[in-house]
Amino acid sequence: MSSSTSDRRLSELWSCVTLDEASSLIDSTSNPFSLQNFVGGQYIAPHDSLTSSSQHITSFEPKTGRPIYTLPCTQPHAVEAAIKAAKAAFPSWSKTARAERSAILWKVSELLQQNREVFAIWESIDQGKTLDRARIEVDRAISNFSYFSTFILHEQTAARMVDGVALTYEHRSPAGVFALISPWNMPLYLLTWKIAPCLAFGCTAVAKPSEVTSMTAFLLGDIFQKAGVPPGVINIIFGDGATTGAALVASPLINGVSFTGGTQTGIAIRRLTAHQIGKHLSLELGGKNPTLVFADSMVPSVRERTIRVAAMAAFENQGEICLCGSRIYVEKSVYNDFVRDFTAYVREKYVLKQTVGAVASLQHCDKIRRYLELAAEQKATFHLGGVPPTLNEDEAQGYWIEPTILTDVAKNSAIQIDEIFGPVVTITPFDNEQEAIQLANDSEYGLAAILLTTDGARMRRVGEQLEAGLVWVNCWLVRELGTPFGGMKNSGTGREGGEHSRDVFTVVRTLHLPAY
Ligand code: NDP
Repeated sequence: MSSSTSDRRLSELWSCVTLDEASSLIDSTSNPFSLQNFVGGQYIAPHDSLTSSSQHITSFEPKTGRPIYTLPCTQPHAVEAAIKAAKAAFPSWSKTARAERSAILWKVSELLQQNREVFAIWESIDQGKTLDRARIEVDRAISNFSYFSTFILHEQTAARMVDGVALTYEHRSPAGVFALISPWNMPLYLLTWKIAPCLAFGCTAVAKPSEVTSMTAFLLGDIFQKAGVPPGVINIIFGDGATTGAALVASPLINGVSFTGGTQTGIAIRRLTAHQIGKHLSLELGGKNPTLVFADSMVPSVRERTIRVAAMAAFENQGEICLCGSRIYVEKSVYNDFVRDFTAYVREKYVLKQTVGAVASLQHCDKIRRYLELAAEQKATFHLGGVPPTLNEDEAQGYWIEPTILTDVAKNSAIQIDEIFGPVVTITPFDNEQEAIQLANDSEYGLAAILLTTDGARMRRVGEQLEAGLVWVNCWLVRELGTPFGGMKNSGTGREGGEHSRDVFTVVRTLHLPAY
């Protein structure tokens, strides 16, 4: 594709200001859009990223099942070229004054703000999420840049005295070139959660979004260009995990990896990089998060909030958020009331008002369907939802799964153990606080937990025993970007957010100066 053709097609994407316009644009084009890698400050023709024209991946719209664009499955030689572009940009960017880096990244946040609706529209089309949900995530992407662009203006460092002997202080410098890899559930938000701190702390990067949801990452290249990010500081390449992702993380030129995705992929990345001891690894992985509902949270004055928080935690973004509470445990005395009210609320709020989107891909839809078949085989009770029909690629009219509420699911069933990552929740009774804690912690994962209670002492007593990196009490998904974000057990290693992101993207040396 000539560069003027690709510019025209890019401007067509930017020109869509409603979902209908974007949808008609997809319908009106005989060739799906062809995404291009963004390397060295410019979009590059797909054939430069591939060794054969067959190495393209087609991406489908979850709400309709129609093809929307193709992306190159970038081959190792082209991955290497992108890494070299980032390497070449590092000496200058890492020495760029904080104030200048800050101004450029602030500009990125402003440009995202100006194009908020276009990003939300394409995110909704590409991922399947509702437009309202997409808007929330674009707002969070904007905050990622505004937060880290100002964070670096107020950094402090620690100094310590060895009386009469020495003054010591910590000096930090950017850690180098990073691989930034993100999943398909919150594409723009999670990719910018990595790019913003990485660039703010003076590193350069090669970013790879999921092959399933690459559209908003493609648009981001244009924003970086317009904001004046120097060429090579951020490179965005497309492709699948096995080819493009693996070549990226394994490269000896990569100094660190910030990865968000599934636990099995996290293990694969650990293996791929095991012999590169100094490589920074931040792994944000899967979850199977518990929601604990105590009887005191079902008194009339707070009952509505309890139901609303538990429902939001289960079904927001079709349950495709690593932090979703997909195992609900309810104190026995209020169990029947909770199941009844929760089901009624979810039917009204999510089913009748259609505030749940389609799940991200046919493959993922199939995976969820298999769990629902298992639930039916194991004689679970479906209070809402059921087993969806099998779809194939040609007939699929979209990848829709009804919000599903299950009870009577055995503790050792795969439905209670595995991360389903869809609009499926189980509800199980418990007798007392100790049992609630034991059930909540009975998981290989430890990402998040939701605690619903009005007892102040219990908030701390239980909250401090939960094996989860994030505990929300009577709320969910509240985020302050300085707080440490990350999981325990198989949910990951390392923390990101504020100074914790600084630990990921910088190296620290301690200087010892003699006391004269
Ligand atoms: P995957 O682990 O399948 O993929 C995540 C990313 O890694 C994708 O870009 C993928 O590429 C890439 N990838 C796959 N294999 C490799 C490899 N060998 N080397 C390098 N990169 C690779 O996760 P999903 O996309 O399926 O996302 C869902 C998962 O993400 C869930 O488990 C969810 O809990 C987790 N998640 C965790 C969060 C957290 O903060 N802890 C937040 C959000 C999601 P491609 O898809 O193109 O193959």
